[in-house]
Amino acid sequence: PDPERDRLIQAYELSAKFYHFLLKNTEYGTAAMDYLRTRGFSDKMIDQFQIGYAPDRWDTLLQFLEKRSFDLAEMEKGGLLSARGEGKGYLDRFRGRVIFPIANRMGKTIAFAGRILGEGQPKYLNSPESRLFNKSRILYNLHQSKASIRKTRQIVLFEGYGDVISAWEAGVQNGVATMGTSLTEGHVGLMKSLGDEIVLAYDGDKAGQAAALKAIPILEASGLRVKVALLPSGLDPDEFISRHGGDRFREQVIDSAVSSIKFKLIYLKKNHILLEEDGKIAYVKEALEIIAGLPSSTEREVYLREIASELELSYDSLKQDCNLLRASMQ
Ligand code: ATP
Ligand code: MN
Ligand code: MN
Ligand code: MN
Repeated sequence: PDPERDRLIQAYELSAKFYHFLLKNTEYGTAAMDYLRTRGFSDKMIDQFQIGYAPDRWDTLLQFLEKRSFDLAEMEKGGLLSARGEGKGYLDRFRGRVIFPIANRMGKTIAFAGRILGEGQPKYLNSPESRLFNKSRILYNLHQSKASIRKTRQIVLFEGYGDVISAWEAGVQNGVATMGTSLTEGHVGLMKSLGDEIVLAYDGDKAGQAAALKAIPILEASGLRVKVALLPSGLDPDEFISRHGGDRFREQVIDSAVSSIKFKLIYLKKNHILLEEDGKIAYVKEALEIIAGLPSSTEREVYLREIASELELSYDSLKQDCNLLRASMQ
């Protein structure tokens, strides 16, 4: 039994309801509601994900918690309030932000992510790490996606809250997201306990692609199958859905996800200038290193033939180089 922990969970649960109410039913929430509508969040998703709004005032949540006799020092430690300074009392930690409640596996709210309306820094403000909230062990939306994950044995991994929510509305309900950190062993362990296959659906920018490349070996080392969803450059899943709709997202992005090998080859190709000999040779060299590591000779042949035809090289010489490389890898 851990009464302090229980009180903090209770405070988060009540605060999430309160912020959700303020967003939907009061004047304070009007601007935030407009912002969410402009971004394409439906009322249904606002309810499903219990999205809320923390007004741009010092003491909205402070008064709410005080009235309910919560210990304010405890609330500060748990990240709902901030200290004004030594002995000067407390103020709301989240001010003027859209609130995304973050739940643990049991569905209990244990932290908030607060997004600023429009531009500004920091874009997201999270609850601090606490005895409840450990970013490297939490996946956003895992409690709601569990059912669909169990059925499909597949997990779609996103970068952001908005991606998870828009995908849910598009019918992809096995989505989770990390909390703005890179993937940890803790996350992998969680996913491994529920599914067999991961679809990486990171942002279609340089950072997202680099993060996907880094995540692949960590996931594969745990025995999970990995596929990678390809997004047009510059769009994240949420933006893709706003622009092209949910049907196209499911068909052209999630269901068309490629193998991790294919993704690595595509990534390599983007980073070499294939019109120049140097670039072509460097690309082939790095590609062969990936292909030579494949245990199946059929798979090796498929990719070697692809590269041979796209670069107008002979399959035989590629195969020879690949076999040499394999021999040196034994
Ligand atoms: P939005 O669609 O609201 O602009 P996003 O999810 O597309 O946000 P990205 O910039 O792609 O945001 O970042 C991905 C994720 O990284 C965010 O969802 C959030 O979890 C985290 N993140 C981004 N910026 C910050 C920040 N300044 N502080 C903490 N976490 C952040
Ligand atoms: Mn991004
Ligand atoms: Mn993004
Ligand atoms: Mn986004």
